[in-house]
Amino acid sequence: MSRYFDHNATTPISAAARDAWLQASEKFWHNPSSLYPGAGAASRRLEDEREKLARLLGVDEEEDSGIIFTSGATEGNEATIAYFARTRPSTCCLISSIEHPSVDAPAARHFDNRVIKLPVTPEGIVSLPELEKALGRGNISLVSIMAANNETGVIQPFAEISALCRAKEVLFHCDAVQWFGKHTAADITAAADIVVGSAHKFGGPKGTGFLRTGPMARTLAMQTGGPQEHGRRAGTENLPGISAMVSSLEEASAKLSQWEGQAEQRDLLESTITSSLPGTIIVGKDSRRLPNTSMLIMPEGRNLKWLTRLGRMGFSVSTGSACSSGSADGSHVLSAMGLNTAEINRALRISSGIANDAGQWASLAAALQEVSRSMDQGTTSPGQSIL
Ligand code: PLP
Repeated sequence: MSRYFDHNATTPISAAARDAWLQASEKFWHNPSSLYPGAGAASRRLEDEREKLARLLGVDEEEDSGIIFTSGATEGNEATIAYFARTRPSTCCLISSIEHPSVDAPAARHFDNRVIKLPVTPEGIVSLPELEKALGRGNISLVSIMAANNETGVIQPFAEISALCRAKEVLFHCDAVQWFGKHTAADITAAADIVVGSAHKFGGPKGTGFLRTGPMARTLAMQTGGPQEHGRRAGTENLPGISAMVSSLEEASAKLSQWEGQAEQRDLLESTITSSLPGTIIVGKDSRRLPNTSMLIMPEGRNLKWLTRLGRMGFSVSTGSACSSGSADGSHVLSAMGLNTAEINRALRISSGIANDAGQWASLAAALQEVSRSMDQGTTSPGQSIL
């Protein structure tokens, strides 16, 4: 685990999440919708978890929390976009050109040719003047812009986006998957009408997530069937997963200050690499970024070669989004930022967790330098044949 630098893809499960999962599986295994006392206890536990999550998200206690538990962010993103396309026919949807495929693909599918894609600056930030211009055209039912990009870590100006949307009374959906667990959760809840999160990005289990709707979006409903989730998402609730998710977010929220150390280590690695490997580009360097993420364009060699050689040295990094790792087209995010195909093919993403210590960061920097030397000499990693 110590050489794992791919936390934007997924995180190891936290001790708090595992304990909560086991406890809920053993004690609250009844169906929360059944009518005997054991089921009542499960149902109460479910609502307790909803309240706890609402507090973590900074939702006013007097208010209906608007939380729907889901199977993850892909479900929440798809359901949001499908709902608006279905209930506001012939309106348009505005998304950024750097959205995750779980927003991009449903927008294309449900809104068809009524999707307006906003450009980003070379620093990876959505263009606010373009957003304002597009909102001015009218007939927009939904704006969907992520909180922080999963590939570059660049944080989007969501408070400003929110103000522009509110001025036009257009609802703002925010895929905040990479924000939760690294920054204050309530900042996003305050800005967006619909917020989506995923447990496995902050120490919770895979296949569990949430969608939170503000007062203007309470009619949003997803799958139909039974009356679960206040009639908004049918299906027996995954109570162990939900308990584990809420515990992991609680734990992560108490440790937010620890990310400062990651930002320092990340910056140190970036300065070491740019001075020792001239020609390295740091994507989004001058933007506000997540404290754990570094997207590097290496000076030479395809990223898969770097990935393989680093992998043989025990380091897990990635070429970008895990969701597009099989795609032949390369990163649409880097392309939207104006990078060319050759540069995109040399992109390596490093994303840490709070447990990555200075020694691990230093050995990653040393490993990058060693791989670079092996590229220069055309040699393979010690005793290995390579891609
Ligand atoms: N949105 C972003 C920004 C992501 O990084 C991911 C996961 O990679 C998702 C959505 C999809 O999340 P899930 O795995 O919960 O479906």
